[in-house]
Amino acid sequence: MESTSILLEANDIPTHWYNIAADLPKPLAPPLGSDGQPAKPEQLEAIFPAAIIEQEMSTERWIAIPQEVREIYRLWRPSPLVRAVRLEKALGTPAKLFFKYEGVSPAGSHKPNSAVPQAYYNHQAGIKRLSTDTGAGQWGSSIALAGQMFGLEVRVYMVRVSYEQKPYRRLMMQTWGAEVYASPSTMTETGRHALADNPDNPGSLGLAISEAVEEAAARADTNYSLGSVLNHVVLHQSIIGLEAKKQFEKIGLYPDVIIGPCGGGSSFGGIAFPFLGDKAAGDKRAENLRCIAVEPTSCPSLTKGIYAYDYGDASGFTPAMMMYTLGHDFMPPGIHAGGLRYHGASPLISMLHHERQIEAVAVPQLATFEAGILFARSEGIIPAPESCHAIRTAIDEALKCKETGEAKVILFNLTGHGHFDMTSFERYFSGELNDYHYPDEAVRESLTHLPKFD
Ligand SMILES: *Cc1c(COP(=O)(O)O)cnc(C)c1O
Repeated sequence: MESTSILLEANDIPTHWYNIAADLPKPLAPPLGSDGQPAKPEQLEAIFPAAIIEQEMSTERWIAIPQEVREIYRLWRPSPLVRAVRLEKALGTPAKLFFKYEGVSPAGSHKPNSAVPQAYYNHQAGIKRLSTDTGAGQWGSSIALAGQMFGLEVRVYMVRVSYEQKPYRRLMMQTWGAEVYASPSTMTETGRHALADNPDNPGSLGLAISEAVEEAAARADTNYSLGSVLNHVVLHQSIIGLEAKKQFEKIGLYPDVIIGPCGGGSSFGGIAFPFLGDKAAGDKRAENLRCIAVEPTSCPSLTKGIYAYDYGDASGFTPAMMMYTLGHDFMPPGIHAGGLRYHGASPLISMLHHERQIEAVAVPQLATFEAGILFARSEGIIPAPESCHAIRTAIDEALKCKETGEAKVILFNLTGHGHFDMTSFERYFSGELNDYHYPDEAVRESLTHLPKFD
């Protein structure tokens, strides 16, 4: 059998997002303000529109996707679900391997799934500008694209190492009309402070978030937008899993294992949560479903962090969230999966991990490139370094099936293509990439800076 793509019609694009907050084993711990009290919706109004705040706090199971958003989704959705027959053959596994390919969006990743509704709701609320942060540039390019579609100005604070390593992502943002600054920058108090401490500061996602939030909080015409972590972003990404469910229905299969890379966790939640929703509803097919979040050994928040209240950014401007964290001032090494270099993880993912409803594994960098290259050579698509993490674990699970002879159905999230990450592949081929395990002492050190509420 040749590789097969299970396609849907444009009319099959879901009409509603799925909100797992309706089906949690217990209520989510609320975000806390600087006074240690649950953050009030009003406190978020300086940086988010009301519709987004409502989604952030909602426990409604189904939330309607605005028609304007569905129309833009049609540019690349429904995205293909592909059976990776050639990869199965290369591995000699009896497992059935499927991937949901999110690299078909104009920005090349899943991120426009949330950038488009975020730009839409801000435009509806009369906002003129958006400020945001970006690591490798995937989110920045997605919000630049979405902002352009609704006539919003966009300013992006891009982590300095990526700004220098990935000029093409910066140029994508500029092509879609956004302004891009290397973070730390001289545009904000936070940036100037960081540069005064260390003029060569390579930047971090936490620092870039602080800069973007500072700007949005200071300007009435400007809101902030975040590409992962928060509940509303995970909600928007549920489109991935909802489509995948329809695609599996078409071929009469159901996944046994779902695997995704996990940075902030929105794409992982996006693919896994609609299936966990089946499980919560008592669907027998989902009874033994395993969902595995894959992170780098260099930034192992779920596997080595602790479950505690911490800030979403380096400076502590955001409310504190209950999540797995390595400490908000944790500086991850400059690995190539830039989208996975975040100190925390979505509170939803964190809680489900803490409750043992989902699993997490950490994989070393070299093994992820090895897996990504095998995938490219068998399925044709060159995956993003972040996506290579899911491929690594999917291959490992498929190889286990080879030992046990089980024909499990394995689904993984191919969150993006790697066309703008070719220098990472170059460094892999020339032997310049290393594995990096974040030392336990360094994690312990940064965890001593967690906020204390008493
Ligand atoms: C941002 C990104 C990720 C990580 O996504 P989260 O939703 O934050 O976990 C994974 N893959 C690609 C290609 C990305 O751009």
